[in-house]
Amino acid sequence: MDLEEHSIESLPDRCQSCGATLTGAEKRTALERGGTPVLCATCAAEQAPAAENADADADAGTAS
Ligand SMILES: [Zn+2]
Repeated sequence: MDLEEHSIESLPDRCQSCGATLTGAEKRTALERGGTPVLCATCAAEQAPAAENADADADAGTAS
């Protein structure tokens, strides 16, 4: 039984952040990281250091 392959096939085909088409390697990395969200290599690299603030969209405004 190829459960791992099935899991990979069950992943979205696109990055959930930027919508780029994912490669097999990127899907496999996403599985190893926990499956969701599924990100391309670029977005995964950007998300990694900011994981604690994943839900914060404090990008607009309080700069003074
Ligand atoms: Zn992306």
